[in-house]
Amino acid sequence: MERVSTVSRVVVALRYLWAAPCTFVGVVAAAPLLLCGARAHWVRGVLEVSGGGVAHRLPFEAITLGHVVLARTLRAMRRLRRHERVHVRQCERWGPGFFAAYLLAGAWQWLLGRRAYWDNPFEVEARHESSVR
Ligand SMILES: [Zn+2]
Repeated sequence: MERVSTVSRVVVALRYLWAAPCTFVGVVAAAPLLLCGARAHWVRGVLEVSGGGVAHRLPFEAITLGHVVLARTLRAMRRLRRHERVHVRQCERWGPGFFAAYLLAGAWQWLLGRRAYWDNPFEVEARHESSVR
């Protein structure tokens, strides 16, 4: 029993370590929001940052950067949490290659005449798994 627990902890630590470069970008992006009054909450292993004086200017409702999720408002965070958690798992899967893979997947869709965001396989998976449209 103890051995399984130790193995689980090691696996979790490796997932965080593998996604750490993305998480670092998230922490850097969160800093100015926090300095302008955004609130941070640690929710099931993810740092969620929302609200404050400038978050409403974000060009998206929410974005996942490793184990950091930024959202315009707490309400948007709650509404999109399941969707963003799928992106957290994608970051854990792709590690430091996630951002490049995401952008290339979108570019590939665009080159095929599809929509870079909506047809991006990472977004398709997130919508499918979270049922957030
Ligand atoms: Zn998404």
